[in-house]
Amino acid sequence: MSFVVTDPFDQTGIYLHIPFCRTKCLYCSFNSYAGREDEIYAYLQALEQQIKRMAAHPWSQGRTFFSLYIGGGTPTICNPRLLGKLIVKCLAAFPFCVDPEITVESNPNTLSSVQLQTLLESGVNRLSIGVQSFASQELKLLGRSHTSKEACQAFFMARNAGFTNINLDLMYGLPRQTVNTWRQSLETAVELAPEHLSLYELMVEDGTPLASLVKNKECVLPHEDLVADMENITAEILQKNGYCRYEISNYARPGSICRHNINYWQNGSWLGFGAGAVGSLSGMKVTNIHDSRIYTKRINCRLEPFSEIECLSRQAHFRETVIMGLRMLQGISLEEMENRFRINPVLYYGRTLQKLIDRKLLVLENGFMRLSDSALPLANQVLLQLV
Ligand code: SF4
Repeated sequence: MSFVVTDPFDQTGIYLHIPFCRTKCLYCSFNSYAGREDEIYAYLQALEQQIKRMAAHPWSQGRTFFSLYIGGGTPTICNPRLLGKLIVKCLAAFPFCVDPEITVESNPNTLSSVQLQTLLESGVNRLSIGVQSFASQELKLLGRSHTSKEACQAFFMARNAGFTNINLDLMYGLPRQTVNTWRQSLETAVELAPEHLSLYELMVEDGTPLASLVKNKECVLPHEDLVADMENITAEILQKNGYCRYEISNYARPGSICRHNINYWQNGSWLGFGAGAVGSLSGMKVTNIHDSRIYTKRINCRLEPFSEIECLSRQAHFRETVIMGLRMLQGISLEEMENRFRINPVLYYGRTLQKLIDRKLLVLENGFMRLSDSALPLANQVLLQLV
């Protein structure tokens, strides 16, 4: 079973960042703040201002916008009416295609039937729920603010409200996790039958409380062999249940691949709104100021909220696109790459590429370059050689 990914290069996505959470999870290194709920109203107004400014910018004219992704943080921590209003305004400000994908990220204990109904009425057609694990002990060790039961209830509530496209986020390699508890989490997820599953290995990031716990041996992570076993059973269980792996960490039922993510891996263009959000405008990376208070203040002072603008050379943009594109199981189209960058990937990488092919890590087939099945668990090491 495989999917054909359509070329989105002439289309554009939008990412809105809502950096507020109820509590901070112990492993979290994302741009998110707990205990700043009183700032949400002003922040949403600032977001609306940035949206208006960018909608009037010449770069946005004549484009077709095909996806809107509201991520966080926890977007559903916002007042439903205010969040719904922001989504409607964003959809009206840009020329969206007739059937855009509109995703909102959520956490189980921030969903209510009013919240879900309001999201649907605002045009949201895809819900992503951060579940991470269905084992209560694992959730506790991660510092998650919800239980496994609440995750299931949130899923059913979303289905009953009318969401027909739901993603669940799960993580493996967790403290005290075993192959068996990971299997149980996967099987519970499969029983719920979401359209999409994002499955990431827990990364212990410096500066997080989890990193200190691990350093002080107060928290033990599973051995890498166990993590490899977890990865092996993942593909097996999900493929048996009708999910196709279309990216290293993402699985979908037919027709439910995430368009926002595909655009990201194909290194397409998208606008990034909100604190710390990164936009990619035809290869130019625009990063907004990280701190939500400074972001709001700058917008209110009619100043630009950018902290960095980086223009990649054609070669650097090409290499970045190769690295990101190889995360998708179908790989990259050699013809598309040549048309887009005027660079032939086979000639460009020459001997390096041949060595990877000889070692059976990369495959050239039907006009595509892709990672071999055996290279998937080693993807990062392989991709490093193409940077
Ligand atoms: S819910 Fe997500 S963004 Fe918020 S603290 Fe936890 S991991 Fe970070």
